[in-house]
Amino acid sequence: MIEISNFIGGKNTPSETKNFIKLYKPTTGEEYAKVPVSTQVEFNKMIESMKLAQLEWAETSLTKRSSILFKFKYLIEKNFDELATIISNEHGKVFSDAKGSLQRGLEVVDFACGIPHLLKGSHSINVGTSVDSFDIRQPLGISAGITPFNFPAMVPMWMFPMSIACGNAFILKPSEKVPQCSMKLAELFSEAGLPDNILNVMHGDKSVVDLILQSKNIASVSFVGSTPVAQYIYSESAKYNKKVQALGGAKNHMVIMEDANLEDAVNGLIGAAFGSAGERCMATSVALPVGKIQKPFMELLKEKTNSIHVGSSLDPNSEMGPLITKEHKEKVLGYIEKGINEGAKLELDGRGISLQGFENGNFVGPTIFNNVTKDMTIYKEEIFGPVLSVVNVNTYEEAISHVNGHEFGNGTSVYTSNGNIARDFMKNVQIGMVGINIPIPVPMAFYSFGGWKGSNFGGSGMHGEEGINFYTRRKTITSKWADGALGASLVMPTMK
Ligand code: NAD
Repeated sequence: MIEISNFIGGKNTPSETKNFIKLYKPTTGEEYAKVPVSTQVEFNKMIESMKLAQLEWAETSLTKRSSILFKFKYLIEKNFDELATIISNEHGKVFSDAKGSLQRGLEVVDFACGIPHLLKGSHSINVGTSVDSFDIRQPLGISAGITPFNFPAMVPMWMFPMSIACGNAFILKPSEKVPQCSMKLAELFSEAGLPDNILNVMHGDKSVVDLILQSKNIASVSFVGSTPVAQYIYSESAKYNKKVQALGGAKNHMVIMEDANLEDAVNGLIGAAFGSAGERCMATSVALPVGKIQKPFMELLKEKTNSIHVGSSLDPNSEMGPLITKEHKEKVLGYIEKGINEGAKLELDGRGISLQGFENGNFVGPTIFNNVTKDMTIYKEEIFGPVLSVVNVNTYEEAISHVNGHEFGNGTSVYTSNGNIARDFMKNVQIGMVGINIPIPVPMAFYSFGGWKGSNFGGSGMHGEEGINFYTRRKTITSKWADGALGASLVMPTMK
């Protein structure tokens, strides 16, 4: 049984708490670790040690910061399989998926390596007589990140490499369900030469989140998780005058037009709906086949979904692993019951799956509901499991009104071979991240990740330009130096 430590001052630091949360392996149900709920005394002590460290880090040259980030990138690449194994073990997602998610996090480190270029300000000469104006970007101080269970590496990596590259110190409060990957990342960053107390990891639950929100010494909060908690983080941060970005839940729709390449659409859909057992904020949980395509679409969807291999996370043949906890499995099974009771047609039933040797794992097989309607709970709420709702619509207009009418606005996609439809969809859909013949339109690190509506509170996205804006504040300087009085500027250069 492992006791998870905090990572403070460049080393693993056991918590002084008496309060621990037990952890169970998603694949086997076996108890394997306990994670501390850190105390206020530890928190305050950590903050004090971060203040001076941050001031020194902000004075560290951009080229030095960049070289530490390059070393960190190298160390992640060197330890890639070990990190992906930690992700698979603690989350339950299959190894190939764990590697994919780590790769997407690594791309943010790649992006942050360009910090000398990214922090360039602007400069205007002679905005008035002998007056110049320019702006600079300065760090905020200490920033904090609170992350969800479903991406143990990627989501923290959306935040801390960006914040630290900008000259801040960072406190990471990872999900208490997946505490180990963050520890390894912090160790590697330290090994890369990051000074102590610039990245600290402090474990806990809501009580530690509240310490972060209420601390006068923390300038910004980045949050990714469920919508009710995102709303709470957003309003509490405002109360304590913090900069805040809070990304919430999702219900992503895919529209399949009659002229779509059906094979491509269904292949894309099954990966997007059932990959990572549906525990992705960019998972597709609603499919909208339009008109005549409905029947062949459902036939092909069932055929391909039936062949998904559900199994243990580290088995190379597995395409889908277990859910994160027993409680979450019960919640997902509850939604399946509700779907049946509210009149949706259960085309594929993922309940009752039992895998030899993994009878206590949190497995639910791929589940498909047909004839789902807007008023059903399984349509309205985020299930966060391998449950796909198919809503049959007659026209493109009907399809887009479903997408735009939903509370959430994280991601969406359309499959079509009609350029006019593709363009109209891209322009008029009320969603932050849009795919055209692409099932999971996660932006690259040099763009920003973020949804709209009930999927994002505060409006700011992660990484890319919005990340740089979030982790810095602009200062605009207007200065007057009467160099014109010397007359030098009036001398024409000699032309040969
Ligand atoms: P969660 O909201 O339960 O937990 C997220 C974090 O908040 C954790 O660190 C947790 O300790 C903390 N927390 C939990 N309850 C809290 C409370 N009452 N007060 C303060 N802090 C609290 O989310 P989760 O179950 O870990 O993750 C799944 C959710 O995250 C899904 O809704 C998913 O859509 C969402 N998500 C969104 C994105 C996105 O980019 N929009 C990305 C990944 C996950």
